Amino acid sequence: MPTTFQIAVFNGDGIGPEVMAPAVDLLRILARGSADYDFEFEILPAGAAHFAKAGESLPQTSLDKARAADAILLSAMGLPEIRYPDGTEISPQIELRKELNLFAGVRPVRIASGALTPLALPTDERVDFVLVRESTEGLFHTQGCGHVGQDLAEETLRITRATSEKLFHFSFDLARQRKATGLGSGRVTCVDKANVFRAFAFFREIFDDIARAYPDITADHAYVDATALSMVQNPQNFDVLVTENMFGDILSDLGAGLMGGLGLAPSGDIGTDNAVFQPCHGSAPDIAGQGVANPMAMILSSAMMMDWLGNKHKITSLCDDAHRLQSAVDQVIANRNRLTPDLGGKTDTIGCFHAVKAAL
Ligand code: ATP
Repeated sequence: MPTTFQIAVFNGDGIGPEVMAPAVDLLRILARGSADYDFEFEILPAGAAHFAKAGESLPQTSLDKARAADAILLSAMGLPEIRYPDGTEISPQIELRKELNLFAGVRPVRIASGALTPLALPTDERVDFVLVRESTEGLFHTQGCGHVGQDLAEETLRITRATSEKLFHFSFDLARQRKATGLGSGRVTCVDKANVFRAFAFFREIFDDIARAYPDITADHAYVDATALSMVQNPQNFDVLVTENMFGDILSDLGAGLMGGLGLAPSGDIGTDNAVFQPCHGSAPDIAGQGVANPMAMILSSAMMMDWLGNKHKITSLCDDAHRLQSAVDQVIANRNRLTPDLGGKTDTIGCFHAVKAAL
């Protein structure tokens, strides 16, 4: 009997439903071919359009069902013209991170052969590293409730020992797993600004404490500004990078740029019990409804979900199929002829889906 996973699906706003449909279809195709696993999907309401209609952005029933699911797929939420009364954008994805305590934002940066990277890499050079962005505190701590006075505005950066310890354990465990599967060299780099801010010196101290429990993994440090430079000049040297929320937010967009654009960047927000997988891009209202959104980042995020479920439940074939899906996307990109307009192609969302399906 296959193990059936309950997947909570947030279709979201803008291009959200357009990129989610191909991803779910591909997951169904893979599950149909497997004797080991199956998926049941439940679409849950949330987002800006739902707020405009129903007055709430993340209904309690959606949150409860998401919490109970084996994994959560989320496309993109938020629309610039629909806002809370205080003027801030509606972003239930951030509420989900806080509610489900998804402290580890996993942002892989993978440049496969034939990728659309702006870097001039030698053909045999491979880039494969993971940025782990703390996702519940840091400079996002006072998000939406920072102090704004007449002549002064203040936001607070918060680093806690409890979250940092979990974050660093997660990062070292990830480096171990990557080393065991030949993906990484077994190295975790703490990215901070410990030379300027005491909060980052505290962050670094906790990192060094946790590192002692992983003698098989190399632990080192880098300042965030130098890291931005190295991500462009020597990205092949990294394995796992771990950093604060705002630094991670910025570096992950740089990582997306290195891979060829936002339409290709997947992510996972992972906690102790729950995980949300979603593309790094937003709801792209400027192209919504045109059928031309790039579904690759959403498809790659579903592959991350499969890999996470496979590792968690020790189903090797689920991890293997995750890699097949990833390779199918790589192949379509390398072939160049079935790309969406954001990548310079002429193919629409459905055409891109069919190309990935054929490559599978
Ligand atoms: P957010 O703040 O919600 O992350 P954003 O304001 O950074 O969103 P996006 O919605 O990600 O912006 O869009 C930025 C640009 O990238 C837009 O021009 C959009 O059309 C384009 N874009 C984003 N995602 C895709 C995609 N999947 N396919 C094609 N173009 C995309």
